[in-house]
Amino acid sequence: MTYLYNDPVEFADELIDGFVAANKALVKKVNGGVIRAARTPDSQVAIVIGGGSGHYPAFSGLVGPGLAHGAAMGNLFASPSAQQIYTVAKAVNSGSGVLFTYGNYAGDVLNFDQAQARLIAEGIPCRTVAVTDDIFSASLAEKHKRRGIAGDLAVFRAAAWAAEGGASLDEVWALADRANERTQSFGVAFSGCTLPGASAPLFTVPEGRMAVGMGIHGEPGIDELDIPSAHGLAELLVESLLEARPASISSPAGSRIGVILNGLGSVKYEELFVLYGSVARLLEAAGVVIVEPDVGELVTSFQMAGVSLTLFWLDAELESAWTAPAYAAAYRKGSVTAQLAAEEGDSQAGAEEQDVMALASDESQAAGVAVLASIRAIKDMVDENVDELGRLDSIAGDGDHGIGMQRGATAALIAATDAAERGAGAGSILQRAGDAWADRAGGTSGALWGLALNAVAASVGDESKPTATDVAAGVSAALAAISQFGKAQLGDKTMVDVLSPVADSLGESAVLGLSTGESWNLAVHVAADAAAATSDLLPKIGRARPHMEKSLGSPDPGAVSLSLAIAAVAKVLNTSTQEASK
Ligand code: ADP
Ligand code: MG
Repeated sequence: MTYLYNDPVEFADELIDGFVAANKALVKKVNGGVIRAARTPDSQVAIVIGGGSGHYPAFSGLVGPGLAHGAAMGNLFASPSAQQIYTVAKAVNSGSGVLFTYGNYAGDVLNFDQAQARLIAEGIPCRTVAVTDDIFSASLAEKHKRRGIAGDLAVFRAAAWAAEGGASLDEVWALADRANERTQSFGVAFSGCTLPGASAPLFTVPEGRMAVGMGIHGEPGIDELDIPSAHGLAELLVESLLEARPASISSPAGSRIGVILNGLGSVKYEELFVLYGSVARLLEAAGVVIVEPDVGELVTSFQMAGVSLTLFWLDAELESAWTAPAYAAAYRKGSVTAQLAAEEGDSQAGAEEQDVMALASDESQAAGVAVLASIRAIKDMVDENVDELGRLDSIAGDGDHGIGMQRGATAALIAATDAAERGAGAGSILQRAGDAWADRAGGTSGALWGLALNAVAASVGDESKPTATDVAAGVSAALAAISQFGKAQLGDKTMVDVLSPVADSLGESAVLGLSTGESWNLAVHVAADAAAATSDLLPKIGRARPHMEKSLGSPDPGAVSLSLAIAAVAKVLNTSTQEASK
């Protein structure tokens, strides 16, 4: 369990504040995460890492010379929002572009991709290497679906070394990508972890047993065995990783490798050293030359008991990167001459933006009343269904859909109310709501809801009274945005299975000349049927994927919450039209 916390909801924010207070010479806080205290030198590509909080030293502990320029930090085990990532990237960009590198998880990919699109649209070059070192998380043929675990460090080191050596963004990307191709990890787990304030562990492993290949958030592995001796475990890890080595390595003998033996939280250093003794002997017996091994905690999951072994197959450049000096809060190597404490005038400027509300017409301001009421109705619906949505998500996912939607809808209502009070039009109210939702909800669905609300906002605008056609076009644009970033297709068992028929239905109603209220009434039935029909589908995407068959017979949580939201909005639209015609 977690012993020390205040309000569990504030835990992630409070840990960032404390971390920054403890490392003032090294890092500064910005909205969304932390950045190096010293400014990124001109003409240096900035390396931005990130992910959910709760994995220290990943990610804030890996910010500093020889490692990242900034880390975007999400809520506990939840991706940072696109807005957070964007803010961190803007704060560290020196004008030479930004490399994003992070562990390959659906929510992170979605949010980093959005932030990347936004930077590129502003003329800031940005590229991405999502780390895929966990060899048991997907087959070699589906390597792009593999997760990132402790091998993140090898890729971060390669990227940072190239950037600090003055390489261009394309060159930095190429070296980081090569490091990823040559980094492989294998993890085992003995017990799960309990998040602050939670009454039960997020996942469990039976007493005396070991989950083989299990992910750091409890994603299922490939096998379960009795816990072997330390030497027995070393044999399993080393043999599997040598066997699975990258295709470009013809034989382990003579190869030079960086080694990371990572403890996930409650396996102690003493145990790690006992294990490492065997790992080193076995690798040396295979003829491998070990270069500067790291034994310790590099990616954790609270008190999760488990270890992972990473082999980083070096070449000359990657070895220079791996052995280069570094000075971050949680990772120090060699001697760094780079400036640490920020001199006056040399510190990173935060990317603070002025909050200016766009001018709105009277009709659009008036339409904003129904928009605000709709957002309030969605929030009330989520509050009422928070437990049920969580339960549906726990069948095959991670159980956070209720609380994620609640965080998102609550933040959206606060932002929308503020915008409306400041005279915003319907479009701006929706846009503020969408940004706040994406920023606070966490999870995949939060990012997608943010995109959806922004798409509707763009179509509705702040100039005229939104017509049924504008709204229908906005919902179609929302579907396009969600499909583009989430990459789910119809039938993959996601919210797309509801949004797609709803977009069609609203489009048809608009062509027939129905009012917005009438159109949405028809869409309510389409949505409810489509959500129910997801029970028969197998998930093909997102967090639920590895638990495929468990979810047969239950509807997709994101599809259900969307259909309930459509019903809530339809009710508001019909009440407000009745009132308007009175
Ligand atoms: P997370 O999956 O990150 O825990 P939530 O639990 O809040 O996020 O939301 C899960 C829901 O998000 C799923 O039920 C599904 O409807 C939706 N979802 C997940 N991934 C995608 C995707 N790639 N495209 C569309 N919808 C998705
Ligand atoms: Mg979930």
